[in-house]
Amino acid sequence: MSLSRLVVPAAYNYIACFLTLDCNLNCNYCINSFGRKKNFFAGNISGEKWVKALNRLISRPDLPITLQGGEPSLHSDFIWVINQLRPDLPIDILTNLCFDVDNFIAKVNSSRLRRKAPYASIRASYHPPYMNLEKLIDSALKLKKAGFSVGIYGLRHPEFEKQNLFAQKKCLSSGIDFRIKDFLGKFKGKIYGKFKYPESIGSKIKKSCLCRIPELIIGPDCSVYKCHRDLYGGYWPIGNLLDNSFKIENKFRKCFSFGDCNPCDVKIKTNRFEAYGYCSAEIKDIKENKGNKAVEG
Ligand code: SF4
Ligand code: SF4
Repeated sequence: MSLSRLVVPAAYNYIACFLTLDCNLNCNYCINSFGRKKNFFAGNISGEKWVKALNRLISRPDLPITLQGGEPSLHSDFIWVINQLRPDLPIDILTNLCFDVDNFIAKVNSSRLRRKAPYASIRASYHPPYMNLEKLIDSALKLKKAGFSVGIYGLRHPEFEKQNLFAQKKCLSSGIDFRIKDFLGKFKGKIYGKFKYPESIGSKIKKSCLCRIPELIIGPDCSVYKCHRDLYGGYWPIGNLLDNSFKIENKFRKCFSFGDCNPCDVKIKTNRFEAYGYCSAEIKDIKENKGNKAVEG
């Protein structure tokens, strides 16, 4: 049975598809493990199910389906999914470029991943202690030569600043766009990042609030979450894209976990037009939880 179409509301500015939370690397600052429940396992589903779910969406030219993870290319149907998505759905990819780029170039038409945007549609992350820079540059150059829009992103991590600046110089001199993003998370007991609601991160006591995030955050089994904290932590989904009765609603939702937010949701960042000062989460009515206890969910 085919599923009914779902219009992504005009206020939405991100469609995040976590094809898998598996990754070939194990970066010790990985934002996916920030606050993740011990033993949480996010099971993957087939590419066929992903395509069925994503092809329901009616989006717009400036709002791509962003395939990410973990490392999205570890999904066994990664390339198949790209080739089966409706041609009117724009696609972006966040990856560490660990995949076989020759095979990718042979099977994916570069024009499928091209669109008008102030940043590359294939955005590769660079993690200095875990990756080989030469190999990363080589893969990016191959993709660029084949007509793909590709850029590399480093992290302003206090421990790897030198390596990132070196990589940036090297990439720019090879004609590859290299940008450095703020590091978010904990390092040596200090929390890094600029946050709209400073108490939302790393607080011992969780509070209740109303929170609205105009993003479609889809986990590895097509469950939809109200925020990244819930996705990475495996907390209650608000629905599933494979469920015909699921509706996308841009509304405030009750949350009992203010204080345990993931930096991704509450950081001040650039929006998709590259304008700085945007925060995904809009939070109001912050109150003590009854009994002042930490509440899950
Ligand atoms: S490459 Fe990205 S997703 Fe994978 S472990 Fe590193 S930070 Fe996490
Ligand atoms: S307040 Fe924090 S934990 Fe709660 S929904 Fe918003 S971002 Fe998620």
